[in-house]
Amino acid sequence: MNDGQRSLFRLFLGSAIAVAFLSSATHLLAGKVTGYKPVIIPCSPVRGGAKLIALRRFYMDGGEKYVVVDGRSFRTAIAKADDLLFSASWPEVAVSAHDFPPYLAALGDATGRPYPVQNQGIRHFERNLDGAVVSVDLCPSKHPLVRSIFTDLIGSFQGRRRPVPVAIAVSAFWLKNHGRDLEWLRSLETAGKIDITWVNHSYSHPQVFRPRPWELSKGFLLGTNVDIEKEILKAEEIMIEEGLTPSVFVRFPGLVSNRKIVEKMRSWGLIPLGADAWLAKREVPRGGSIILVHGNGNEPAGVSRLRNLLSARRSRIERGTWKILDLRDCAAAMYGKRAFPAIKKQKFAGGSFPAMGYDKLPRIRISQSRRFFHIVASWNLLSHVVPRKPPVVVGPGVVFAVS
Ligand SMILES: [Zn+2]
Repeated sequence: MNDGQRSLFRLFLGSAIAVAFLSSATHLLAGKVTGYKPVIIPCSPVRGGAKLIALRRFYMDGGEKYVVVDGRSFRTAIAKADDLLFSASWPEVAVSAHDFPPYLAALGDATGRPYPVQNQGIRHFERNLDGAVVSVDLCPSKHPLVRSIFTDLIGSFQGRRRPVPVAIAVSAFWLKNHGRDLEWLRSLETAGKIDITWVNHSYSHPQVFRPRPWELSKGFLLGTNVDIEKEILKAEEIMIEEGLTPSVFVRFPGLVSNRKIVEKMRSWGLIPLGADAWLAKREVPRGGSIILVHGNGNEPAGVSRLRNLLSARRSRIERGTWKILDLRDCAAAMYGKRAFPAIKKQKFAGGSFPAMGYDKLPRIRISQSRRFFHIVASWNLLSHVVPRKPPVVVGPGVVFAVS
């Protein structure tokens, strides 16, 4: 095992508890979502276990529900309010260096400078990984799903007992028009053949015109009259109404964004997902690559290159030395490994942290300056400022510093 594999392995063990909670909290949902709101509230399952962060609150089937993320495993789930305890406080979640959730580190890193017009966010993982992440974009399309992408992947990894992990970046327009294809994908998941990470690929995938490279800054989400809340949050609502669990990842249409949009994503807890191996553009995958293919029938060249890649790797796949990697595990391994030196409580003015019951928890604002990644409670009792490296946590009344 190399380092990357070892950390992935540790991660599988580490996320076991979270998965136990998540599977019990995930239901096949039906009905209409109302009152959908971004929140950032630390919490944990009533039955104990993982420290979680609630990212969305909504009502469905008459009950209050939350989209929660396990900050260590990057797994999300939909949980009923009754199944969650909101007594965990930000100090508990973030102050111990050992426990600092890799998710927050990833969020700060992937939404940081320099804000390129294309390919903001995580573009690849560690190069020493023996494999790559496969992401399949489902932009709106009249064509049916290119099912061969999935059957090729499943066929290539038949000897492996675990499902093949696939990140699917789905637009709400695609979901609305491809009910049978969605059912088919879910049947593969139920049969244990694939494990899907659902990535937000916007609601309508704005595409007033096909921008040429020098016009990207006017294209896709950067076009005029784009309602970013609808494009991102409404897309999540549709995903939930279709019974999917949104992940913490967002893939911008055309991979195009600007600083304003990226900062919005940060405030909503969404990690931009780029790619370094867009196969139709002849980008060649390396270790830790994020491969991008279109599964919506609009880019056949990428699909055939994926098939060629799988046949070229056949003997390594059979020997187990080349794998398709899980997006969430790769992110957790990469950001979990970034050394966070021990954080020492330096000054603890104002006594202990206030007991923060759920009702008292403020809306948390996340922002970023040149050097720091701030998590600021709006009532100002608590503020965490986490530099991207090395970490220091500072707040009014509470000062923490690297020992
Ligand atoms: Zn797209």
